[in-house]
Amino acid sequence: MSKDQYTFADPTALYSEKEPQKQHQPEPGLDAELTPKADLGEATYRGTDRLKGRKALITGADSGIGAATAIAFAREGADVVLSYLPSEEKDAQRIAGLIQEAGRQAFTVPGDLRDDAYCRDLVDRAVQALGGIDILVNNGGKQNFNEDLTTLSDEQFDDTFKTNVYAMFWITKAALPHMKPGSTIINTTSIQAYTPSEILVDYATTKASINTFTKALAQQLAPKGIRVNAVAPGPIWTPLQVTDGQPQEKIAEFGTQTPLGRMGEPAELAPAYVFLASAESSYVAGETLNVNGGSPTP
Ligand code: NAD
Ligand code: MG
Repeated sequence: MSKDQYTFADPTALYSEKEPQKQHQPEPGLDAELTPKADLGEATYRGTDRLKGRKALITGADSGIGAATAIAFAREGADVVLSYLPSEEKDAQRIAGLIQEAGRQAFTVPGDLRDDAYCRDLVDRAVQALGGIDILVNNGGKQNFNEDLTTLSDEQFDDTFKTNVYAMFWITKAALPHMKPGSTIINTTSIQAYTPSEILVDYATTKASINTFTKALAQQLAPKGIRVNAVAPGPIWTPLQVTDGQPQEKIAEFGTQTPLGRMGEPAELAPAYVFLASAESSYVAGETLNVNGGSPTP
């Protein structure tokens, strides 16, 4: 059974036909080649003008959680700038098409988040294209498992921090001068921030940093009328997992250890981003919204 956001359903039975299959793609991977296909809410997400006329910049918007969020934002009435790596053009074009089908504008700005110049240029181009930014979703991320710290390369450690932490800093810093009171920033952390896996030392550390960055910055910006929050996904079926995010043998049982007993789909994350982006969450700042299948968090 697939998810439909307005239909009463047993959450343990949703997507019960779906079984993650062992597979490997080179980084960053494509949704187009994921088996089974992830549910981005293409067929089901219905908007109700919660983001009418809003201007959103989303990183990692080509696939997975970022793509599901981009589709939902557009159907809620927002125009969207999509950031992603050049090799993800195929996925990005599909999402841009879905945004246009929703009657909104989509602008694609490929580039590498590890590059500070790209991050600043991305913001400039978003401001130009949209006429400002009032929703910033820092979502692009890198996750490569490593079983032994002595073999964790300096390059990987650096890349994981650049992609997950530095890019968030560079983009937020560049975007802030363009963000008016009422604007919202949403960062993507992870269950890994609280219960880190022994094979994700670098990644989990970046996700704890993102959580803390969110809570510190939220206090700084709340008096200025800008709310900063985070979403912390649990195990979600996206290209991240099959591009060495997990060892192959873990993929088949991906998500089964959660209280709901299954992995989640990107479509189940999008409503959390919509809530935090919209005025519905006007009294929520510095919060981490866990969407993780029921695993306890601090
Ligand atoms: P995904 O692979 O669909 O999205 C990650 C995106 O990050 C890629 O599409 C890519 O565009 C972008 N990216 C990676 N390196 C980049 C670089 N150097 N330059 C530009 N863009 C780059 O996977 P996803 O699972 O949807 O990931 C989205 C976010 O969710 C990430 O921050 C991830 O850490 C987080 N998250 C995912 C899970 C999960 O189980 N899938 C769990 C917790 C947190
Ligand atoms: Mg991608």
